[in-house]
Amino acid sequence: MTSTGAAQRLQEDLLELATYSQGGPGTSRRLFSTAYRDSREWVRRSMLDAGLTVDYDGAGNIVGVLEGANPNAGALMTGSHTDTVDGGGDFDGVVGVLGAIEVARQLREEGRRLAHDLVIVDFLGEESNDHGLTCLGSRAFVGDLTANDLERLDATGETLGERCRSNGLDPSTMLTAGRRFRRPRAYVELHIEQGPVLEERQSDIGVVTGIVGIQRLLATFTGRADHAGTTPMARRRDALVAAASAVLAVRQTGCDSHEQGVTTTSEIAGYTSGPNVVPQRTRLLAEMRSISPVWLSEAERRLTQEIIDLAATYGVHAELEWIADNEPRPMDTSIQRRIAGASEALGLTWEAIPSGATHDAVHLARKCPTAMVFVPSVGGRSHCPEESTATDDLVNGVDVLRETLVNLDSTSS
Ligand SMILES: [Zn+2]
Repeated sequence: MTSTGAAQRLQEDLLELATYSQGGPGTSRRLFSTAYRDSREWVRRSMLDAGLTVDYDGAGNIVGVLEGANPNAGALMTGSHTDTVDGGGDFDGVVGVLGAIEVARQLREEGRRLAHDLVIVDFLGEESNDHGLTCLGSRAFVGDLTANDLERLDATGETLGERCRSNGLDPSTMLTAGRRFRRPRAYVELHIEQGPVLEERQSDIGVVTGIVGIQRLLATFTGRADHAGTTPMARRRDALVAAASAVLAVRQTGCDSHEQGVTTTSEIAGYTSGPNVVPQRTRLLAEMRSISPVWLSEAERRLTQEIIDLAATYGVHAELEWIADNEPRPMDTSIQRRIAGASEALGLTWEAIPSGATHDAVHLARKCPTAMVFVPSVGGRSHCPEESTATDDLVNGVDVLRETLVNLDSTSS
């Protein structure tokens, strides 16, 4: 396979998949939408055309298998997702699924039969759904989907389980889908970076060191309602001012991080009784991300004290509640070395970088050796219609994925 041929096939596949969209600006293939359901039928046929044996597992994941020469060798796994955010782009997740199918095509054409089965999965619903759950398919695939997850409500009061059932998925089968999971030799996921680092450093390939952990903060500030015209400034206990100072403290914590930590305040909700009243109560939502669990816990401790102290200077009481979303998940170092080695053998430059976004790989990494290959995102843009990756970079990513899998195949015990 020449790289020109691979480039053309990838471009054609990307364009074809992009035609499945709910409409509006960008591409929208939300979980349970007709566009998403139809697009996956196209994905299934693409896997069949590439010579894979394909079926849907009990959790709605499309699983394609390119049979290996040694039935006892187990599986090498790759894949990603093809759902999108509302008004998203055509590369997030898609590159990992279409790239994996292209790898299978190339192996067959070149007559390179692996010893291991090559298992390619298009995981159901990776993006956050109406019920606030990410990675629905990959959770179920490894057996980590819980009955509680299926009890999550959407804005209309319908549970995720009910929603699955009305879309042809049996909730009880979803909960037991993980029984099919046989620990593979490795899982390697190709994905776009979704950030600007590789482009800025002019690196062809990102070797992902780990996927960030996320700590979410809910802070409640309680001051005192007073007349906004008659209460002197020094006597006020203004909850909104305390929250505003917390926003800057959250930001500074990220700016001061040497562990590639990032911090964001996403919302301040005020409860005032009018423009002539000093705000009594305010709620703030924020999050911190890092691949360092030590940094996360130290930053949490420092920031908690800082916000309480800042609030106290305004006579306001602050109550903080932290919730661990994902724990930091390091990627397998042996596979990282193989990805770097494959890149160098192909004459490509590479960079070790953490992933600030979560991925299906987080859930696979709990069960088997897992790593990720990143390709550059134009302008670092993602989750928007402008999301793009140059075709040369896509081809590079597919080449590195293929050679990493071949290397794992030939050197595995
Ligand atoms: Zn993704």
